[in-house]
Amino acid sequence: MQVVTSPTAARGAIDRLRKTGTIAFVPTMGALHDGHLALVRRALSLCRHAVVSIFVNPKQFGPNEDYRTYPRNQKRDCQLLESAGVAVVFVPSVRAMYPSGYATYVNVERLTEHMCGAFRPGHFRGVATIVVKLLNIVRPDVVVFGQKDAQQVAVVRRMVRDLDMPIKVEVVPTIREPDGLAMSSRNRYLSTEQRAQSVVLYRSLQLARELIHSGECDSRRIRLAMRGLIRSQSHGSIEYIEIVDPNQLKPVARIKGRTLIALAVRFGKARLIDNIVVRP
Ligand code: AMP
Repeated sequence: MQVVTSPTAARGAIDRLRKTGTIAFVPTMGALHDGHLALVRRALSLCRHAVVSIFVNPKQFGPNEDYRTYPRNQKRDCQLLESAGVAVVFVPSVRAMYPSGYATYVNVERLTEHMCGAFRPGHFRGVATIVVKLLNIVRPDVVVFGQKDAQQVAVVRRMVRDLDMPIKVEVVPTIREPDGLAMSSRNRYLSTEQRAQSVVLYRSLQLARELIHSGECDSRRIRLAMRGLIRSQSHGSIEYIEIVDPNQLKPVARIKGRTLIALAVRFGKARLIDNIVVRP
């Protein structure tokens, strides 16, 4: 496995790989867990070679967010990626990605205005910008994302289509802890008590699914039930619970077809997100 740190070195290494087969790319911020490794496995099931980036992108963090304290463990990450069969790991510095004088940003409209976008101004501008830059450097056949970040998936799909990028966007289901909590590098911020309470996020999504399967299709009533459950079983502070269509992310009042139920809840300094897709 080759570890490269400059865009030029990454291009060179990946151009050599491309001669022997297709390339699937997995962008990450490191502090890898089984969710990331499921993306790598999917990458290798689709293409001959897997390329992974590890970059904690400062432009997608707000001024009061956890950029400085975000967990970083490059040595362990590289060991995991090597065992998983990854060919190239790209670990650029902030300077390499945003040299002085950097001035170009990608803004995906509408899709980024609500849900996480409303609570994290500028977040998706940072995400879209870094994803375009990484895709231009790696030039993969397939890029792999996790359903865990459902709004990110919608934004990237839109951007790849809008900018005519010849890349397939592949999405892997959310990998969970045995009790249902979605795996996340940020789960380590949780205290023991918060960790115990955090299972209520997935429980509230399951409650929504049960309600829908038993015939409830009024979004407002489902959101109220979810809110009630989260409030009664945790001290988490709810940022949003949204019931939207999975592609446009527009709120739906009555559930008819495939629907995304997404939420964000704060437990102290941990901001947790989760979602499921349901069909009535
Ligand atoms: P991150 O390092 O948190 O930016 O995540 C990198 C990629 O891994 C993104 O596409 C995430 O959606 C995906 N990912 C993170 N957690 C999970 C999970 N629990 N299950 C599946 N994919 C995940």
